[in-house]
Amino acid sequence: MSAANTLPFRTFAPWLRETFGRPMYRVALDAGSTCPNRDGSRGFGGCVYCDVEGSGTGALRTGKEIARQLETGLKRIARRDDDCGCIAYLQSYSNTYVEASRLEEVLAPIEIAIDEGQVGIVSIATRPDTLPDWSLDRLSKLAERVPVWVELGLESANDEVLEKIKRYHTAAEFMEGVERCHAAGLKTVGHAILGLPGDGRDGARKSAELLAAAGCEGVKVHNLMVLRKTELAKWWRDGDVEVLDPETYVSWLADFTERLLPDQVLHRITGDAPLEERLAPRWDLYKNAIREMLAAELGKRGTVQGSLHV
Ligand code: SF4
Repeated sequence: MSAANTLPFRTFAPWLRETFGRPMYRVALDAGSTCPNRDGSRGFGGCVYCDVEGSGTGALRTGKEIARQLETGLKRIARRDDDCGCIAYLQSYSNTYVEASRLEEVLAPIEIAIDEGQVGIVSIATRPDTLPDWSLDRLSKLAERVPVWVELGLESANDEVLEKIKRYHTAAEFMEGVERCHAAGLKTVGHAILGLPGDGRDGARKSAELLAAAGCEGVKVHNLMVLRKTELAKWWRDGDVEVLDPETYVSWLADFTERLLPDQVLHRITGDAPLEERLAPRWDLYKNAIREMLAAELGKRGTVQGSLHV
């Protein structure tokens, strides 16, 4: 851990400040993409926990609308701190699951903001199985100008669990996706969910081991949440799914953190679904509370991030 970070794990905001010399804030952009798990190429209806509205509007927006979203977001973060930088974050759905011309259209206003020194990082969320060569070439070109992070969902390292939750990609496809991003000069952020049905505590450990083996530079992790209007909500109402209480989550999160690489940056350690969209769990601990609980748990164990990395 660096001197600036006294926690026994590597957190996002201090790392950003150390690396970029100032605070960097995300501006989430909705490009109105879709995903192969919704349009029938891989599946219909999406992953069982995915809430359509929570993941995006589904309305195909124009490049101009991206420009407007970016402009609004830049004003918002400037009000927070007039000396901050911006991470342009293409968040919803699978942003490389589009025509090349559409990605070009989406990136155009972002590149103008890069020219103007307003955007310092581009982060683009997608699936590991929706990374055509042309998209990696295009992002690689962008990465000559600013760091480009590709956010890829692993969720679980267990293919049976992935099948059950209807992700419809495998852990091997995740590994291959990360490898191809790295070969293209892109950074990766791997996502995991702890507490997926059938994954258990061992699953939390295996997910961290796989994210470490993949060498993702960043990691996002949260506990399973049951959102309204999802298939998971039905399973939960039928009593087929349990969610983790805060103490269990933190204990599994500690197992997870111990198995990461020491220098992987934890971009997120909690979920942020609003209470009105969430059926379970109903506990609402702010990320500072989870951070403190995780630090206390690792302290009690006498371990730090990466202690059990093999
Ligand atoms: S979680 Fe991602 S991959 Fe799954 S249905 Fe939602 S947008 Fe598609």
